[in-house]
Amino acid sequence: MPYLFTPKSACITQCAQPLRFTVRPNNPILFHYISGVLILFFFRLFFLLSVVNEYVFMVQARGIQIRENVKNIGAQVLEQVVRGAYSINGTDYSYDFNFSESDALPTTYLPEGFTYLPSQVCPERLPTMKGRLEVNMSEISLEEVERSLLEGKPNIVPGGYWKPTDCLPRWKVAILVPFRNRHEHLPILLRHLVPVLQKQRLQFAFYIIEQAGTEPFNRAMLFNVGYKEAMKDLNWDCLIFHDVDHLMENDRNYYGCTDMPRHFAVKLDKYSYMLPYNEFFGGVSGLMVKQFKKINGFPNAFWGWGGEDDDLWNRVQFANYTVSRPHGDLGRYMSIPHHHRGEVQFLGRYSLLRHSKERQKVDGLNNLNYSPLVSRMPLYTNITVSLSRKLAPIADY
Ligand code: UDP
Ligand code: MN
Repeated sequence: MPYLFTPKSACITQCAQPLRFTVRPNNPILFHYISGVLILFFFRLFFLLSVVNEYVFMVQARGIQIRENVKNIGAQVLEQVVRGAYSINGTDYSYDFNFSESDALPTTYLPEGFTYLPSQVCPERLPTMKGRLEVNMSEISLEEVERSLLEGKPNIVPGGYWKPTDCLPRWKVAILVPFRNRHEHLPILLRHLVPVLQKQRLQFAFYIIEQAGTEPFNRAMLFNVGYKEAMKDLNWDCLIFHDVDHLMENDRNYYGCTDMPRHFAVKLDKYSYMLPYNEFFGGVSGLMVKQFKKINGFPNAFWGWGGEDDDLWNRVQFANYTVSRPHGDLGRYMSIPHHHRGEVQFLGRYSLLRHSKERQKVDGLNNLNYSPLVSRMPLYTNITVSLSRKLAPIADY
């Protein structure tokens, strides 16, 4: 009311007030109409911005992928040319910059119908391991996967523990999966991987380490937490660090450990089945417990996407290990396509990586401190943990 009847001559400061103040009290219909239009406008604008954002992200991701592919192809071609010049028989493998596994082709697998004794250690090359696998990425609910994997087969114990009964498992393997907000991926991974591990006659359990809280995702620290919690359960001797969206394409990619830390996910569909760079140690990797302890685990200081797997590679080298990789096409994987919605890149990774060696002593298993919430699900153990930077302080180096 006051603005409507203020005479012009008395107007000293209020004259500049916007028109909407004058119409409001007099004309409620017009007011509602205008606010309705405004709300609709902002809603549309917001929607449009999110679509544009998504599109820009997609284009950017495609751009990065194309650039990476071109780079990789360039590196591969160069490598082939260089190798061609030095190789005697020209039988080297294309992705293989620094091969640490024996160059011999895998020896034969045991014949169909081969029986082993419950008192003997399970062989590594079982007749049940047929090679190429169907990869099914269709969405499925966790309940459905539980039903199909547990029905009539009560030998998976709550928490997701399983061990063979017809032979003694060669390895006790804890599969550690870092997790936040990828609920559609987890059942797909379990449906795919559980039967493979059973066919490989490994003793195993899945640990899903879920990050709560609002800090950027810290894949590496989740692995450290998963390791500590898993070791409270059982005397595991082999640890597999597994992204939730990676599905192996060959069941002869044996998830036991080797005398050297192992990189399993060598050829990814998203990198055109080429190793992006020799030091790539991401996706799926595995270390014996004693190797993991020796390198002081993963670093805790990598908040957000990127760098932590490169740091692990450095740690492995500083401990005088070399990395082994599965032969030929055994290391092929498909990864479930996804966006990086709301996930941040870790821009500080390059400066941390320059100090990998000094930081290895002060950041890892030895400065980890956390309070987990553990629950046993039918197919896995869930460890929910809220991470904060204060929980793993990094001493000066
Ligand atoms: N991850 C997750 N939630 C996230 C970010 C990462 O669960 O918000 C886990 C998940 O296991 C995933 C892995 O960390 O597979 C690696 O992250 P991401 O898939 O984003 O890496 P990229 O696809 O770029 O290699
Ligand atoms: Mn991914």
